[in-house]
Amino acid sequence: MGATYIAGLNPAQLQAVEHSPTIPLQILAGPGSGKTRVLTTRIAHLILYHGLQPSSLCAVTFTNKAAGEMRTRLEKLIGKGKTDQIHMGTFHSLCARFLRRHADKVGIRGNFTICDADESKKLIKKSLKQYAADFDAVGEGLPDPGSVANKISQAKAKGLSPRDLLKEIPAKSLRLKDVTARVVAEIYGEYQRILRKSNSLDFDDLLVFGVRLFREHTDVGAWCKHILVDEFQDTNTIQYELMKSISAASKCVTIVGDPDQSIYGWRSAEIENIRRMTQDYTSVAQVLLEQNYRSTGAILAASVAIVAEDKKRMPKTLYTSHPSGSRPCLYGHENERDEGLFIALEIKRLIAYTGGMLDHNDFAILLRYNSLSRVLERELQKEGVPIRMLGGRKFFDRIEIKDLLAYLQLVDNPQYVPAFVRVINVPARAIGPKTVEQILARATELRISPMEVVQRIHEGKMPDTKPPVKRKVGDFVDAIRLLRERAEQHCSPSILIPKLVQIIEYEEHLKKTHKDYEERILNVEELMNFAAETETLGSGDIMDPDAPAPTDDPMEDTPLRSFLQASMLSTDTDTAEDDKSPKVTVATCHAAKGLEWPVVFLPAVEQGVFPASRAEDPEEERRLLYVACTRAQCYLTLTFCEKRFMAGVEQEKSISPFISCLGQRQRTLFADTIPDITVDERELAAKVIGRTLPGEAEITQKIQAFKDSRRKKPNSSAQSAAQQQDRGQSPGELPRYEGPAVFTS
Ligand code: ATP
Ligand code: MG
Repeated sequence: MGATYIAGLNPAQLQAVEHSPTIPLQILAGPGSGKTRVLTTRIAHLILYHGLQPSSLCAVTFTNKAAGEMRTRLEKLIGKGKTDQIHMGTFHSLCARFLRRHADKVGIRGNFTICDADESKKLIKKSLKQYAADFDAVGEGLPDPGSVANKISQAKAKGLSPRDLLKEIPAKSLRLKDVTARVVAEIYGEYQRILRKSNSLDFDDLLVFGVRLFREHTDVGAWCKHILVDEFQDTNTIQYELMKSISAASKCVTIVGDPDQSIYGWRSAEIENIRRMTQDYTSVAQVLLEQNYRSTGAILAASVAIVAEDKKRMPKTLYTSHPSGSRPCLYGHENERDEGLFIALEIKRLIAYTGGMLDHNDFAILLRYNSLSRVLERELQKEGVPIRMLGGRKFFDRIEIKDLLAYLQLVDNPQYVPAFVRVINVPARAIGPKTVEQILARATELRISPMEVVQRIHEGKMPDTKPPVKRKVGDFVDAIRLLRERAEQHCSPSILIPKLVQIIEYEEHLKKTHKDYEERILNVEELMNFAAETETLGSGDIMDPDAPAPTDDPMEDTPLRSFLQASMLSTDTDTAEDDKSPKVTVATCHAAKGLEWPVVFLPAVEQGVFPASRAEDPEEERRLLYVACTRAQCYLTLTFCEKRFMAGVEQEKSISPFISCLGQRQRTLFADTIPDITVDERELAAKVIGRTLPGEAEITQKIQAFKDSRRKKPNSSAQSAAQQQDRGQSPGELPRYEGPAVFTS
């Protein structure tokens, strides 16, 4: 057929796109082989060729950003109108959307608040305190609340209830393992009770309740004629169950995945789901894609050499039709400052030597952990290299953002206790922790929310309250009431937030309490921008034609609720960005999944980082390094240091065993000098990323400007590398780092 949307696909990709819509399909293939592209094209094909209604399709991506990218591509293929009707998003956002609409079916209320990981941990910490005696009895201190939170999350990911956990533990056992397991099970139960009372769901609950909703009320998922899931290797049991329940009627599923890129085992992902699917669905077909379109031959060969050392892995064919290009560079430094400077200069050099064909957006620095970014950020900043940080919900974790969101959560859902506790005394209203405890106790006693307690106090319906408390809660109650009235009238958050900031005098509060208040006020403004952005994009919530009539909740589907949902579900790779100027991306390797850049740097490829010292599964760490390497299209540089500050102590470092274990032949796949950007080399880069180079005169001028700028700077050991071409020397002649041997042999 001659449809334009399938133009350019290779035969295997075409086979996958055109595969019968009614036969379940697995597309298993390596990085850069076009899995995501095929999935997107298959959606277009199902609509345009097979005539499926867009609203009968469900597309699941790993991040909201990935959903956004898929949306943009589909808009080009099938138009905005049709694209908007597809149920598209992460498992979490899809569940949140359907739970809002059908909350009553699973015994919750539509205005539930999504409780974030931080608040979860606080609740768990509080419950944990009651168990000090149990641990005392076995001569131990309390476990870390984070580890208890993880265990609860793992249980939920497996679909286990507190009762299921208790069944596994021998009664009255005093072994530490059993005591911990029992306490975890009890806290899990208590934690769930608190969430329910607060009319709140945590991230795992969204999936747990989502499965319950789709499984027990088959009509809710009856619209779904086909579900398509990207990054399937990283789904966990509960997400798999969700896919199964949503496809219960149609049995039509398409998944794409790559077992070599499974990097979420620590979050209970089950690579096993690929096999399980072949049992749960009949006659599952498989298509393998073997051509990589992303990277040069040299990058692909070196990356595959790393992952091939995993002896349990199923070998697979992966080739690229791109030329080989320059080998990935493996470069050692004395310390992380030199490493940071080296990367900064390399970025500048590559921009200059490609004549500006590459800009800062084309570079990524991928880190094993966020904490490795501090020195790096400083060095990049010194050299004037602009960066954007992906990952770690940093923006939404800021105090000022959390405060304002908590106010808005309380406006939307007055029962949400964590938000109440957070802001009842922000700005300071002289309501101390003791008074807060008393309010909470009163709420439990009267079976009402703490918000209702303070309302009653304010209205004089709690005669036993001391007059000062009554006075102090007045402003708070009035502020929430006023905002709630506005929200009920569908006032948008970009108007509500400034109003909130004004009536609680939040800027004055920041000025009084924080030295860096100016920056914090800017963050508050950024939250307003984010609100405006979600309003223009819409919540992505499609009106379901079969949905029940709206309830009498006046806040049903308000702009505020959509905004809160977008804030709570924003994932690692989603950042609200006001300034769209080109910037180098700094991200964790996990957050880089599914993405690609012309140039990638991987700092700290060292023992204790790759694999991380606390990693449970070294093979997963190897795959993570593989995922990171395969993000690169034209240039890949791995760096390591002789010494590095880790947790405040300078440590001797050695290169990652994933590199040092490579055999003689594989080690020649890496170069120990930076690539020499010749005319041929830049033409190759242009071809791989599909761009046109500027004219030679412009390139020469850019190179000269770079050389001039370097001459003005004092020398340093790291600069020597970046100055190779500056001095017109070939890489081999250069003064090089003489640290420990890259390979042990
Ligand atoms: P990952 O495993 O990293 O998620 P993937 O298999 O999903 O990778 P895509 O992101 O879909 O790969 O594709 C990688 C790159 O190759 C993209 O830039 C995509 O546009 C390009 N690509 C895929 N198929 C083709 C094709 N047939 N012709 C040209 N380019 C292609
Ligand atoms: Mg992909």
